[in-house]
Amino acid sequence: MAKISINVAKGKIDAPELHETIIGIDLGTTNSLVAYIDECNHQPICLAKNGKHTLIPSIIHFEENGNILVGDEAKAKIVESPERTVFSVKRLMGKSFGDVKDFKNFFSYEVIDDNTESLVKIKIGNQFYSPIELSSLILKELKATAEAALNKSVTKCVITVPAYFNDTQRQATKDAGKLAGLDVLRIVNEPTAASLAYGIGLKKEEEKKIAVYDLGGGTFDISILHIQSGIFEVLSTNGDTFLGGDDLDKAIVDYWLENVDGLKAAYSNSFNTQQAVRMYAEQSKKSLACTNSTHHQLENFSLNLTIEKLEELINPFVEKTLQCCAKALTDAGLKQSDIEAVIMVGGSTRSPFVKQKVSEFFNQPVNDSLNPDEVVALGAAIQADVLAGNQKDILLLDITPLSLGIETMGGLMDVIIPRNSKIPTRAGRTYTTSKDGQSQIKISVFQGERDLVKDNRKLSEFVLSGIPGMPAGFPKVEIQFTINADGILMVKAKELRSGVEQSIEVKPQYGLTDEQVEKMLIESIENAKDDMAVRGLQEAKTEAEQMILVTEKFLQKNESLLAAEEISTTKNLLIELKNSLQQPERNLIHKRMDELNQFTRPFAERVMDIAIADAMKGKKILE
Ligand code: ADP
Ligand code: MG
Repeated sequence: MAKISINVAKGKIDAPELHETIIGIDLGTTNSLVAYIDECNHQPICLAKNGKHTLIPSIIHFEENGNILVGDEAKAKIVESPERTVFSVKRLMGKSFGDVKDFKNFFSYEVIDDNTESLVKIKIGNQFYSPIELSSLILKELKATAEAALNKSVTKCVITVPAYFNDTQRQATKDAGKLAGLDVLRIVNEPTAASLAYGIGLKKEEEKKIAVYDLGGGTFDISILHIQSGIFEVLSTNGDTFLGGDDLDKAIVDYWLENVDGLKAAYSNSFNTQQAVRMYAEQSKKSLACTNSTHHQLENFSLNLTIEKLEELINPFVEKTLQCCAKALTDAGLKQSDIEAVIMVGGSTRSPFVKQKVSEFFNQPVNDSLNPDEVVALGAAIQADVLAGNQKDILLLDITPLSLGIETMGGLMDVIIPRNSKIPTRAGRTYTTSKDGQSQIKISVFQGERDLVKDNRKLSEFVLSGIPGMPAGFPKVEIQFTINADGILMVKAKELRSGVEQSIEVKPQYGLTDEQVEKMLIESIENAKDDMAVRGLQEAKTEAEQMILVTEKFLQKNESLLAAEEISTTKNLLIELKNSLQQPERNLIHKRMDELNQFTRPFAERVMDIAIADAMKGKKILE
C-alpha cells in the first residue's frame, strides 16, 4: 500500500495519492463523529448512516449473547445494564490503573488492574478488554458509517485528540485506529481541528492568537493557540476532566429531587425513573437554548424549569471554566485583548448563557456559526484533505509538556529537548565514555525538570554495544532525539568513530495525568536550589575524576620526561584531590583541582599528550 509522506521541513506532501477519501474522525468522550470533504463543493460534511444522526454516542454495550452494540442502541442500555455498557472509554486511553484509581467509582463497569501489564483493562462478563480495543469498536462503527454513507470502502483517516494528550494516549489512539482497520495518517489536536473548521490558519500569511473553548459532555478544555504561516502552536492548555454537560444535567436532577414532592422516593426506587428524570433534565437544558421555560410530566410529577433557574444552576460550573481560561491565558503569557478569535466547541456551548459569559470574559463576540458538536470532525476532515494533497503548506505543531533527556555520569539529567519545545523537533548532543576499552554504553531516557534523574520519570533504556576498544574519552557518542508530528519520541545513539548505532522508539508504559505533569513542574521549582547545589557538586566530582584520570595517564606515559620532584608533588596533589571527593564540598574540590592544575601546567605544556587532552575537553561523559 502506498504511503503518503509529509515533508516535515517544508510542510508539503511528498507523494499524494489522488481520489482517495480520507475521513476525519472526532473520537469524543461522549459522542463521536466522522466527516469528509465533499468532492463537488469542497466543503466538509459530517456523515450519518441512513436515517440516523451524525452524532454517535461513544458507548458500547455487550449483549449476553456476544452481540456488540455501539452508539444510540448502546446508550439505551446504560441504565438497565450498566455493568455491560461502557461509556467514557476515552478517559482510560493510555492510562494505568494507578492513573484512574481515584475516579474508579465514576465508571459503572468494572475497571481492573492487570498485573502483567500496567495499562487498565475493563471486565465485561468474563472477558477482558483494553481501552484500545473498546475505542476500536467505536472507530469501526464510524468507519462503517462513512462506508455506508459514501458507498465505498474507506481505509485512511485522521483522528483528533485533546491538545493535552501525551505520547502514550496518542499512541493508544493510533493503535485503536489500526485495530479498527484504519490507517491513521495523523493524530490532530482537537482545538487545531476546530480552528481549521472556521478557516483560521488556512492562509499562509495569516498570524493569529486564538482561544478554543470546548465544553463537551464530561470534560472542559481551553486551549490557546498561536497560528503563524500555517503552523499551529499550542501555547497553553487548561481545563477540567470532570466538568461538562453531564454535570449540568445532574444539577437539574438534584434541583428537581429537592423541589418536586415525592420524586426523591420514586427516583431511588426505580431505574426507569432515574433514566427518565435524567433524560428530561438533558432535554430541558437543551430546549432552554431557545425557549424560556420547559415542562415535562413524568407520571404525576411536574418537572418544570425556567431559563433563570437553569442559569442559576449552571453559573458555578461556567465560572469554573472561566477560571481555567484565566489560567490558560496566564500560562500563555497573554491578555484577553491579545486573543483575536474565540471558538466555541462542544454541545454544551449551545447554551446562550455559556456563550454570553465566555464572550464577556474574552471581551469580544465568539465564533459560533458552525454546529459546535461537529466543528472538530469538520476540521479533522479538512486536515485529512490537507494530507490528501489538496491543500498545501499546512503543518501542525504541538509542544512537549516536560523536558526530555538522558542520564549522564553521577545520575545527572542532561536535557536534550527542553520542555515547551515545539514539535516535530530534533536535537542531539555528543557524549563520551569514562572507562578505557568500554564496549557498551547504557542510554537511559528520562522525562522531567529535576537535575537528578532519580527525581524524574524514566521512559526507556537501551544499550549501545559493540563499540571497539578505545581509551576513555575517545568514543564520540552522538545521541539524537526526534519527536515526530504525532508526538512520538525516537532516540538514536551512534558512536561516530566506529559507526556503531542503535535506536529505539520510546513508548512509555503509561501516561502522566495533567496533575502529575503539574506536580513534577512544581517540585522542580521548589527544589531548584537544592538541585543546583547537588548538580554543582556532582559536576565538580565528575570533572575532578576526569582530571585524575588524565593526570595519572600523563604521569604513566611521561615518567621519563619528568623530574622526580615533579612526579612526587603531582602524586601528593592527586591524593589530596581524591580525598576532597569524599566530602560534599564543591569549593574544596575546585580548590584542589586548581592546585593540581597550577602545579602541573608548566611541565604538562612541555609534554602534553594532546590527544588525551583534546579527547576529554568539554565533553559530557556517559557511564
Ligand atoms: P464530547 O466532546 O464530550 O464527546 P459533545 O461535544 O458531543 O461531547 O457534547 C455533549 C454535551 O452537549 C451533552 O452533555 C449534551 O447534553 C450537551 N448539549 C447538546 N445540545 C445542547 C444544548 N442545546 N444546550 C445545552 N447543552 C447541550
Ligand atoms: Mg468533543
